[in-house]
Amino acid sequence: MSHLPPWGGILVGARLEAYSRVLEERERGLGAFLELDPRNPVRALDKDGKAATGALAGLPFAVKDNIAVEGMGLSCGSRILDGFRSPYSATCVRRLLEAGAACIGKTNLDEFGMGSSSENSAYKPSLNPWDRDRVPGGSSGGSAAAVAAGMVPFALGTDTGGSVRQPAAFCGLYGLKPTYGAVSRFGLVAYASSLETAGVMARTVDLAQAVFVAMAGRDPRDRTSVDAPGEEAADRRAHTGGAAGPLAGSRIAVPSGSLLGLEPGVERGFRNAIDALRDAGAEVVDIELPSLAHVVPAYYVIATAEASANLARFTGISYGARMAGAESHEELVLKTRSAGFGDEVKLRILLGTYVLRSGFQYRYYHKAQKLRSLIAGELAAAALGVDAIASPVFPTQAFRRGDPAMDPFMQKLADRFTCAANLAGLPALAMPSTLEGGLPTGIQLMGRAFGEDRLFAIARVLADHIPPAAPPLYSEECPA
Ligand code: GLN
Repeated sequence: MSHLPPWGGILVGARLEAYSRVLEERERGLGAFLELDPRNPVRALDKDGKAATGALAGLPFAVKDNIAVEGMGLSCGSRILDGFRSPYSATCVRRLLEAGAACIGKTNLDEFGMGSSSENSAYKPSLNPWDRDRVPGGSSGGSAAAVAAGMVPFALGTDTGGSVRQPAAFCGLYGLKPTYGAVSRFGLVAYASSLETAGVMARTVDLAQAVFVAMAGRDPRDRTSVDAPGEEAADRRAHTGGAAGPLAGSRIAVPSGSLLGLEPGVERGFRNAIDALRDAGAEVVDIELPSLAHVVPAYYVIATAEASANLARFTGISYGARMAGAESHEELVLKTRSAGFGDEVKLRILLGTYVLRSGFQYRYYHKAQKLRSLIAGELAAAALGVDAIASPVFPTQAFRRGDPAMDPFMQKLADRFTCAANLAGLPALAMPSTLEGGLPTGIQLMGRAFGEDRLFAIARVLADHIPPAAPPLYSEECPA
């Protein structure tokens, strides 16, 4: 890894004091965090009581508040987990701590990861550091705002249908959704278990990759996690430079229809990135992927079905908030869930229960599973034939808070570029393209299973042509 940012030593002495003041001030303006305490970070100590040293030594980071960090809150942006503190750390967090990083806080999100704007948080909205009238995206919007504002060099999110990549695109960051199984899900609060992964957001390719490498690998506590199979030599093409350009010999596929229904800025950003990849020597080819037409309905049937089962555990009995005044077990559960969940969560529980109802399963849930198989097969085959499948990340740039054109239904339709990778379990990396109208645009590259390295290699080439930008108010690499 060539370059990690100058954050070492920021959590001690006078630098810590300066850093804490900057964080407080930025937090007041952005509302990125639900809990923030740089003076008492969670870190790993070796057996002599010294801070762990490793690839990420001394780097502060933030964690979306649906991922467990021992001793910190774990609200999931929901009233139903108000005041709950986590007794253990997620495996992905633990691995970062062991690599020397220090967790300084928990970030805001759409309740249980359900949404695309972070406006569904039960606690507060988070604002976009590029323009505070706009959303930072979601559901990992707090993490994206924190990184874009230079409050931390990287942050973790979860990505069930785009929640790392879309906020990364809205805030001008790199955002990786790893291959399903590459990073343990142990310690993630489940929304839709078969779709979700932990992912990373950072301002640089190098750091995003270093964090991914530190988190990845089999974990006995998550039986779906595996060690990445080694890449064969042919997979290294994007690394080998040459007179014809660093991407000579690489093929990047653009699915037909990718340019339909985009905001003009998103279309320009996407075309600029594609042109840059072509200039770097990549061959850009059109590809037909007819199953992509079905990703949104398949995703929302499966995601809500799994959510309705996963969220059944929040009853007010074992943990989290408990509403007073109930006279029976049934009333306690009813009162707690009625007051504890927000509208979007209730909508999804109802929808998920509906598609799983006996007699309806074949009409909805089973049909969605068949579509998922079709989508996964088509995408896996396509990904094997090229170096990456390129698309926009989201049809709009960061939209205005409360924008009536982006109501909950429109937000769901707009997940059409991101949720395909979750249905197929493939890795996908959002990366910044040009600024348009003063706001970031993003491009998504989807790869073959466990092909994260190649996506990072292409991202590095793109960054040479279109250097990522930071929001004008927060441009320095390290604030103290
Ligand atoms: N917008 C998607 C949804 O609301 C993204 C969810 C996610 O990735 N957590 O379901």
